[in-house]
Amino acid sequence: KEEEELNLKKFSSTGRIARLLAHEVKNPLTTIVLSADQLKMELPEEVLEESGDLIEVIQRNCNRINQLVTQLLESTRFSELDISNQSINELLDQALEQVKDRIEIKGFEIIKDYQDELCDIDVDSEKVKIALINLLVNAVEAMPERGGKLTLKTYIKNKQCRVEIKDNGVGIPKENLERLFEPFFTSKDSGSGLGLTNTQNIILSHGGSIRVKSEVGKGTAFLISFNLSSS
Ligand code: ADP
Ligand code: MG
Repeated sequence: KEEEELNLKKFSSTGRIARLLAHEVKNPLTTIVLSADQLKMELPEEVLEESGDLIEVIQRNCNRINQLVTQLLESTRFSELDISNQSINELLDQALEQVKDRIEIKGFEIIKDYQDELCDIDVDSEKVKIALINLLVNAVEAMPERGGKLTLKTYIKNKQCRVEIKDNGVGIPKENLERLFEPFFTSKDSGSGLGLTNTQNIILSHGGSIRVKSEVGKGTAFLISFNLSSS
């Protein structure tokens, strides 16, 4: 419990800083974009021919920053939840359906170990599905070309509904473990580093928790808990 509270505090301060920074970056960025547009219109033809590319470099990179900032704002926002009663097994199956293509292409084995006893939770189904999909995609991306094994488990413990998503992929080095949920933390060439930030945000905003266990070369397990539905 204490650990969860600490997590929530740490997260919300990271989120606050991220939002503040993102907001502060947007204004000067808009000024740069507008100035570059203006410059393009006002510069004489000869100069444009010579250095027009540079203006495009400025515009392209500003767009890129703008995109990143927008993503950052999105992934750290606590937005309103549209709560309804859901079966975790169904949510997990629906999330799985969305990443099925990638799993089938690679020929991974999927082991489902769902507890039959009612494991219902009151959540925003669309948001929780996004969180689950992010975890599934990461698992798929971490797995080897052959012999990938994905284990999905649901069960009830201490009046909580738990979900475990386990892969036998590359694993996570110790020094990365505590940075996983940081915005933009990625070890991938073209990763956004926002998947887990977003996932953690969604789970914490439901009053749930997320933990990770991993061993390099063996695999990784993410463990999520939600309060069981009271109805
Ligand atoms: P991205 O997937 O875009 O890199 P994420 O926030 O989803 O961003 O994940 C951040 C990082 O955490 C990944 O780049 C990877 O290093 C690590 N990671 C997350 N899930 C796993 C996993 N199942 N196995 C190994 N590494 C993982
Ligand atoms: Mg990811």
